[in-house]
Amino acid sequence: LALQGGFAPHLHALQELGHKTREVRTAAELAELDGLVLPGGESTTQLRLLGRHGLDAALDSFVRSGRPLLCTCAGLILAARQVLSPAQRSFGWLDVSVARNAWGRQVDSFIASDDGARQQLVFIRAPRIVEVGPQAEVLATYQGEPVLVRQGSRYGATFHPELTPDRSLHQAVFGGQGLSA
Ligand code: GLN
Repeated sequence: LALQGGFAPHLHALQELGHKTREVRTAAELAELDGLVLPGGESTTQLRLLGRHGLDAALDSFVRSGRPLLCTCAGLILAARQVLSPAQRSFGWLDVSVARNAWGRQVDSFIASDDGARQQLVFIRAPRIVEVGPQAEVLATYQGEPVLVRQGSRYGATFHPELTPDRSLHQAVFGGQGLSA
């Protein structure tokens, strides 16, 4: 989805995995896709732009069709069941509650490693997942808190996997050719 925010590095990540990509701004562009990334950015702005472009219903039915979805940061905020601090409308595609900008001002952007030391986590004014409902499973944590969740073919990350060279999350969600072969 290319209405606002950090969609360009996601396009690059998907191209590295051998996928054909397109920037999506209309319902017609959406209909032809096999999968979708909701990038980081500013979730309130993204919500407004979705409304202005008349995309809410098309996006909702696309995601509910079961095609792969990767939501990062602001994208996760759009996808959550509930959004806190400040509260805002969301689509409920992922059974989580998120608190926006919840790492505080001093440390609102930082790089860390997940608890399993499997991936680098780039946090940029990141939300926190404050509750995980029964439909979602936690795939990665940082300091004991969930940072990556999955609900069927939908994945949500509080961090930015597109900003590291590691393509394993994009590959897990969308498939694609291995990089080390
Ligand atoms: N703080 C942003 C928001 O609330 C999300 C930050 C990001 O996507 N990097 O929408």
